Amino acid sequence: MYKYARVLLDQSAGKTLDYRVPPELEARVTAGSRVRVPLRTRVVLATVLSVHEETDARGVRDLAELVNDDALVRPSLLRLAQWMADYYCCPEEVAMRAVLPVVIRKAEVGHKEQFFIELARRPDETERAGLERRSPRQLDVIRRLETISAPLELSELGPLRAAARALEKRGLVRIGRQRVARDPEGEFLPSDDLELNAEQVVALRAVLEAIDRPAESKPILLHGVTGSGKTEIYLQGLRHALAAGKSALVLVPEIALTPQTVERFKSRFASIQSHVAVLHSHLSEGERHDEWHKIHSGGARIVIGARSAIFAPLENLGLIVVDEEHESSYKQEEAPRYCARDVAVYRASIEGCAIVLGSATPSLESYYNAKSGKYRLINMSSRIDDRGMPLIRVVDMRLQNRQKGQQQVLSALLCAAIERRLAAGQQTILFLNRRGYSSALLCQACGHVAQCPHCSVALTYHRDDERIRCHLCGHAEKAPQKCPSCKDPGIRHAGFGTQRVEESVRKVFPKARVARMDADSMTRKGSYRETLGQFQARKIDILVGTQMIAKGLHFPNVTLVGIVNADVGLHMADFRAGERTFQLLTQVAGRAGRGEAEGEVLVQTFTPSHPSIQHARHHDFAGFWEQESEFRRVFGHPPYQRFVMVTARGDHEERTEFTAQTLARRLRESATRDIVVAEPAPAPLARVKGEYRFHLALRGPSAVRMSRLLKATLAKLTLPREIRITVDVDALHLM
Ligand code: ADP
Ligand code: ZN
Repeated sequence: MYKYARVLLDQSAGKTLDYRVPPELEARVTAGSRVRVPLRTRVVLATVLSVHEETDARGVRDLAELVNDDALVRPSLLRLAQWMADYYCCPEEVAMRAVLPVVIRKAEVGHKEQFFIELARRPDETERAGLERRSPRQLDVIRRLETISAPLELSELGPLRAAARALEKRGLVRIGRQRVARDPEGEFLPSDDLELNAEQVVALRAVLEAIDRPAESKPILLHGVTGSGKTEIYLQGLRHALAAGKSALVLVPEIALTPQTVERFKSRFASIQSHVAVLHSHLSEGERHDEWHKIHSGGARIVIGARSAIFAPLENLGLIVVDEEHESSYKQEEAPRYCARDVAVYRASIEGCAIVLGSATPSLESYYNAKSGKYRLINMSSRIDDRGMPLIRVVDMRLQNRQKGQQQVLSALLCAAIERRLAAGQQTILFLNRRGYSSALLCQACGHVAQCPHCSVALTYHRDDERIRCHLCGHAEKAPQKCPSCKDPGIRHAGFGTQRVEESVRKVFPKARVARMDADSMTRKGSYRETLGQFQARKIDILVGTQMIAKGLHFPNVTLVGIVNADVGLHMADFRAGERTFQLLTQVAGRAGRGEAEGEVLVQTFTPSHPSIQHARHHDFAGFWEQESEFRRVFGHPPYQRFVMVTARGDHEERTEFTAQTLARRLRESATRDIVVAEPAPAPLARVKGEYRFHLALRGPSAVRMSRLLKATLAKLTLPREIRITVDVDALHLM
């Protein structure tokens, strides 16, 4: 009796093929094995999905080779990939690509080893002189290493590599397979569990129960205001899981994977530091490869990482923590378009382990799940030591501009507040959300924003035909010449970036020490860390920045946070715009007053009465939830309906639109009545890099059903070759 392996090729269109397992491999080939199989005249890599006693396939060929001896893909991760393919409407091998990172696949086919070089000691004067005379190239290497603080990849030295090897013999440099983690903060000081306050005790009890009896427990949504001590709950939960002989996984947004955060985890588990793996996005390939194998072989008990760490091959999981669960960076914006938080919930159910989602501003989706009883809700409503929530004041920029007669960056109120901090030796953060691209029309005189009558999202302005459109339902109208509400001709979207803010600050406060932190100013490796270090050491008075500075940072001396323009990101063709603004204001405000002195937050806006701003101002999540969830329910937005965004892209506008329309028609033909397929409409970013983009939105009660409908319909449809279709289930970014 032969055995047959059903395999998924690394490169295929989601098709599986059967191969006969040669008798000598029978004992070792299992689900999750990596193998080489013959395909026509080639031999290609594949993953075994399952092993069977028989097959219906004809002309079955033999497996060529087993690549690794143990199953590289754990059964639970195999299941996870299959679920992802179904749920996120993507081919199985695309889902598998997320589960089995490319460095691991590459290693199978002979991965070039990577080496790092660092200075072992500085040469003394005589040695230096000797090198200068006899081997100037070696001295070049030394000089280069002296200017940098982190080990260098050997390959970066280019032709100087030979000189590097000579230096190694002299004992002046170290060359190794792994970058020796040199932490500028030095060794981690072990920290002990803190004594919990009453709210924390209740929260921890729930987490421990879930770890001990996962089968009877629901996912936990830990809703705790900024500074309520959520991290302490995670830490003590992790300790409990470890003590029970289990492993644990902590997801944090990439942006929050700061030295500060990592240090808190590492120092708590200082005694087993080598068992803590941190998965940064800036690990080199070699490091990533090593970390993966360390985790796979059981060498790491705790994994901390951003989005893709949810696929860490840990075994015997006891606890998964998703911090800042509302963060949009958990969503991957390319295929597979998964949300790591949702994948985490599914993984926890497969693994039979506890899961905690934590946030000061839970997503409407998670809060809805908590309200409907799918999750268990735990509240922590006060800050540690009953420190007050920062005072938030709203500055009406319509008034400010009217008084000055021109558009201002910093209002007089904000300037006065900064002045007071400078005089008192305290620090200020100025925040500008520049990521939100917006082409909504906003009246600078009265704050009016043009909105879709059917979806209540901002309409986007299309310059080519002077119309404003809703891309959720297709509604379009002529763009107004003047404000429909106050008749002011100044209706437009005026904006400015962080650089302009920095300039203004320097002009108003020439003596202040100012730094800017955004994607443009932080291009150099390590500059993020450096600037944060200087800010922490109080060598900077005013820090200007984007999202980068909004999350997870803890600076006791910051007593003022200024939000330069709260309208950026608020008026978008996106039903989550209000939610994002509420979250952002709350998170940014949470950076103020984390020390002894009380914190103050100033929010500059043209729409001061907007509910997101008002609820954030009063730290009123409940009020925000009530209003926002009602809006979502009435207009049929998530979480009340699930949402799938299909995008068609192509070089020809008409053909692209026609394809989108054809697809919409086919979908409607086979959709059940509860699925609504909208009319295709130009995307708010209608043309990107010469490509035309059309959106086609689907809504219905079940994401999986819409996903399956799409997969089936797309499989039957022959698309013009140059048109690409992408499907985004539970889409977050609707641009
Ligand atoms: P969150 O993650 O909810 O914003 P943190 O976990 O960062 O809050 O806690 C805020 C601060 O309070 C941190 O400096 C933390 O060390 C401290 N802290 C947390 N729990 C306690 C406690 N039980 N006793 C004393 N300090 C605590
Ligand atoms: Zn609409």
